[in-house]
Amino acid sequence: MKKKILIIGGVAGGASAATRLRRNDEFAEIILFERGEYISFANCGLPYYIGGVIENRSSLIVQSKEDIEAKFNIDVRIFSEVISINKDKKTITVNNLKENKIYEESYDNLIISTGAMPIKPNIEGASDALNIFTIRNIPDTDNIKNFINNNKPKTAVVVGGGFIGLEMVENLQHLGIKVTLVEMAPQVMTPIDFELAQIIHLHLKDKGVNLILNNGVKAFKDKGKKIILSDGKEISTDMVILAIGVRPENILAKNALLTLGERGGILVNEFLQTSDPAIYAVGDVIETNDFLTKKLSNIPLAGPANKQGRIAADNIYGKGEKYIGALGTSVAKVFDLTVASTGYNEKILKALNLKYNAIHAHPLSNAGYYPGGASISIKLLYNPETEEIYGAQAVGIKGVDKRIDVLATAIYSKLKASELRNLELSYAPPFSSAKDPVNMLGYVAENIKRELVKTFQWYEVKNLIKEKAFLLDIREKVERDLGTIETSIHI
Ligand code: FAD
Repeated sequence: MKKKILIIGGVAGGASAATRLRRNDEFAEIILFERGEYISFANCGLPYYIGGVIENRSSLIVQSKEDIEAKFNIDVRIFSEVISINKDKKTITVNNLKENKIYEESYDNLIISTGAMPIKPNIEGASDALNIFTIRNIPDTDNIKNFINNNKPKTAVVVGGGFIGLEMVENLQHLGIKVTLVEMAPQVMTPIDFELAQIIHLHLKDKGVNLILNNGVKAFKDKGKKIILSDGKEISTDMVILAIGVRPENILAKNALLTLGERGGILVNEFLQTSDPAIYAVGDVIETNDFLTKKLSNIPLAGPANKQGRIAADNIYGKGEKYIGALGTSVAKVFDLTVASTGYNEKILKALNLKYNAIHAHPLSNAGYYPGGASISIKLLYNPETEEIYGAQAVGIKGVDKRIDVLATAIYSKLKASELRNLELSYAPPFSSAKDPVNMLGYVAENIKRELVKTFQWYEVKNLIKEKAFLLDIREKVERDLGTIETSIHI
């Protein structure tokens, strides 16, 4: 009998599931419901369109409704908001937003890929303002772009220093707008640890960004033209971007009594089935076991969403494909820097009470004698007994993404930290050194294993000084000139 499969949400996870379903079954009836006007658009490109780096709005549409209908014979219903899942009847209720018509559609299987929405806290004065924006989709992007074109703002405040916030900072500065970044935590970009974040902080200041850390927004005044921070400081601004994080868009699942996790994501098993086996869920809206310790996590990234869409579509056809869990591998451009990470950072390892070694290296991206090489600050975290790699993070100008991708692959392949020294990675002077930065991490791990060296961390230095440890600084003079540890001796 012909299967009937419905998908809610037409972007990363939903569109990926839809096309894979068609490849699995030529005859199935597949209907994709999307509340907005666009399916399969490039969320990740939106900040760059605002900044004018991506010039054409049409480049943001990866596949149009017409493309998917014609190529894959999928019934794509845009402006169609699903308002309930009636799991006992195996139907959904849909509101056709254009015609204001409500109807039911039955299913054999349902895939939920409703994503995550920006967190918009109820801040005093926000509802009176017309200059406060969040960014999730093309209409949000159009609103920001129109505001900029019509009002020519000179100043902007971005609230939140995660990757979307930082991308917005860069793109607004690119338009000549003077940007202040306000972040509640003591650092931006929480996937990386505090000491590596300092490199980003310095770079943001170098680029003229007014960086305010350890501070939040308490209230908006003058229709959003003035921001009162938690410490009482006031900032005047022409516009505000709120980028303080996202939360799973779980309302349909919640009302249908599907089981949710602690973070509000829909709980799925390794086959991406929800608590109702006929219903699958993928993408930003789910909570699932992570790769490393199988703890429940909600990782709102495009890579996992796309992969999960494909897996759910395969499992509807009995392929028994398991989702092995996400590592949260991510990368971002922050002006001239690349910032990337994979797996757990030190903060998470501490919170999980897991023992770890942390090693740092600052190798060059490519041979020092070839022009354009730049230092990469790279950190590896691993289990001191088993040498299982828990995570890695890096900041630099060149070659950062490649090293983190190699390390993500090493984690998936369960390589031990010291085995990184054995990897034979491609080398020519413009690209790397004969000992690649990833090999260097392996050498340090090997030295630690053989007890040739011990490391200490930056936060232990204060105590070392107190204990009158002998600190020998073996760096080059130019490095020492940039800053040094008090009481250290240089050779
Ligand atoms: P989405 O892609 O958000 O799709 C969900 C869709 O479901 C939405 O279009 C929504 O309208 C629709 N929907 C919701 N409820 C209903 C309903 N009731 N009825 C009908 N339709 C509904 N990730 C990266 O890995 N790298 C990046 O560089 C990156 N950059 C990003 C930049 C921005 C500005 C944003 C917003 C996100 C970025 N992401 C990035 C995250 C990435 O886009 C998401 O992880 C990914 O899109 C999640 O896919 P999804 O299918 O779960 O949800």
